[in-house]
Parts: sequence; C-alpha cells; structure tokens
Amino acid sequence: MIPDIQTRPIAHLASGDTLGIQLYRFVGDRPGKKVYLQSNLHGSEVSGNVVLQQLIALLCDLDSSQLQGEIWIIPNCNPFSANQRSHHFSSGRYNPYTGHDWNRIFWDYEKHAAAQPQTCSIATFAKQHRDDSPEQLIQSFRQQIRRAFDAIADTFQTPHGLPLEQRYRYHLQDLCLDADYIIDCHSSSNLAINYLYCFHDRQPSADAFLLQYGLLMHDYDGNAFDEAFCKPWLALERELAKLDRAIIFDIEAWTIEIGSGMDADPDAIYRGLRGIKNYLATKGILDIPKFPLVQSLSHRTQLFERSQLVNYYAPRGGTLSQRPLIGTIVPAGQQLYQLVSFNRNGNIPETIEVCTPQRGIVFDVARNCSLNEGEYVLGVVECDRT
Ligand SMILES: [Zn+2]
Repeated sequence: MIPDIQTRPIAHLASGDTLGIQLYRFVGDRPGKKVYLQSNLHGSEVSGNVVLQQLIALLCDLDSSQLQGEIWIIPNCNPFSANQRSHHFSSGRYNPYTGHDWNRIFWDYEKHAAAQPQTCSIATFAKQHRDDSPEQLIQSFRQQIRRAFDAIADTFQTPHGLPLEQRYRYHLQDLCLDADYIIDCHSSSNLAINYLYCFHDRQPSADAFLLQYGLLMHDYDGNAFDEAFCKPWLALERELAKLDRAIIFDIEAWTIEIGSGMDADPDAIYRGLRGIKNYLATKGILDIPKFPLVQSLSHRTQLFERSQLVNYYAPRGGTLSQRPLIGTIVPAGQQLYQLVSFNRNGNIPETIEVCTPQRGIVFDVARNCSLNEGEYVLGVVECDRT
C-alpha cells in the first residue's frame, strides 16, 4: 500500500520557521473501522516513533486487500516537546511556556456538555436516541461532538485568537474525533516496563496487546488524550444504562507505555509493535500471516487498579546506590532500594535502606540516581492492595 501523506503546519514560530506534523494515511479496499495512532506526545518518549515507523513499513508492504478500514499514523506528533533539551537530556513532558503537561491539555466533550446542559446534555441525547441502533447512536453522537468541536475552529480567526495549547490540541483531535480506536504511544520518563492503561468495560480488548500488565482507569479528569476521546462515550453508555439500554460501544482508546524514556530498547519496541499488530488483527482490521498470534487464545493481561500503583519518593537527598531491575517482583519486607545520604553536620555518610510493606511489581525506576529529598525514586504496583 502507498500511504497518503499529508503535512499539517501547526505553529508559526518567532524565528519565522513553521512546525508541522505529518500524517500517514492507509486506506484498505474495504470500508471499515478507523484507527488513529500517534507517538512522542511527551518529548523524551521516543520508542513509539520507532514502533510507528515499523508499522508504516509493514503497511507499505501489504496489499490494500489486507486492510479493512483506515489506519492514520502520526509519529513525532509533538515537535514542541521532541526538540526540547537540557544538555544531553530531553525532557519535554511540560510546555515550558505554560508549565502544563502536554498530555493534560485536551478537549473533553463530556466537560463541554456538562458546562452547556441546555444545548449539549449527554443525558438528553441518550433519552432522544435510546431506541436507535448502535450504528445510528454512534453516528448521531459523533455528529454532536463534531459540531461542538468545529465551533472551536471558528474562534481561530477572531481578534482574540487562541492560546498555543488550544491550537495544538485542535490539530490532533481534529484528526481522530471520528476514529473507532486510538492508540497513543508513550514511554515512562524513567526506566520502565511495557504496560497499558485500560478504561472500564474495555478489558477483553486489552488482552490483544499481549502485554503482561495494565492499569485500569477509574479516576481521571478527562484532559489526557485517551481520556478526552473515550470519556464522552463512557458517559453516553452510563446514561443509556440508566434508561435500561445496556450497550458497550466498539470505541476504544489506549495509552501504551513502551519501555523507558530517552531510549529505544529493541525488546520494548518489539513487544510494542507485536501488541499493536495483534490488536489490529484481532479487531479484523489487518489480515496478516500468523496474526492474531496463537497465544492470543490464552493470554490474559494482568490489570491492576490505578490506585495500586504506589510512588516512592526519596526520604533524604543522596545518591541512589542500589535500585531494583524493572519488572522485579519484590516480596513484602524486602529491600526496594538503597540511598547513600550525605550531610553537613560532621557525621559520616549514611546508607538508607527502603523496603516495601507489601509484595509489589516494580513498574519504573528513576533514571537519575542523584536525588533531592522528595524526588521520585520508583513506582511499585502493590499486588495485594485492594
Ligand atoms: Zn507520556
């Protein structure tokens, strides 16, 4: 297949340069679902770029008869953050101009509707469309979301203008508002395993990514990219359930964490790409040899509540002298890490050992072993916590 490649300018800079994003759009010879994938929303999280490059290469080698529907891919979706540096290190989690996390800026129709109940109420929509077919419901709700979203575009040209983040998010969300499945490829800022975030009632699909672990999303504010996409549909499902119409839309959003930040580890990339291929084959979008892989029949991703992921912060400043390997299962009462702490009161340096009170899986570990008091050391999923 030869993709349709479109470059979109997203920001004109003080220097006179223009930043852009580039969309690779593959269209199968049969109509079907639309999948949207992006990577590198956070600047240091680059593994997804390699995953999506390999997916583009794979799709280029396929015949259009092997794709049902459309796949839209945007690697390097945030040039603002990807180009940010401090010496050898790329940070790029926050917009230095506003201090905002680049993945907490997105437009959420559920919030928009709640603020304008007279015109956009999701409860009212559910009552009006309660007896529609699933296809009609999806089409009508998409149109309602689109109308509200397009009204934002109209404000671009007003004398007041729009702040940078609102302009930027418009470009990304405009491309995926009508998608069926979105996959946002991230990595940890630190050293980390592969895992995914899963919204409720989407657990069966999570298994298709063939990852060992995932985190269930129950608490969220709607401003992350996956949340902004999925939340209105979850809200509509809830409103319909109140009217005795039980329905789970085949609409899904996934954030996949692919290994460590500032890294492009071949194993993390292999598992990331394998999972996406397997998911697309399981959904009937890609027809490729051997996929879905045979292990799909038995694989179950172990999902934990988000609240089970516990962050550890340094009790004192110092140097991290021992840290666990990512993915390690640490028994209750065992050492998690060791910190060498220095002082200015005439004493010899002290070694501090920190143990886990509960059995846990180490999801990520600080890349930087130099720590001030209160800085992030690691994240552990406490398996037995409820
Ligand atoms: Zn991220």
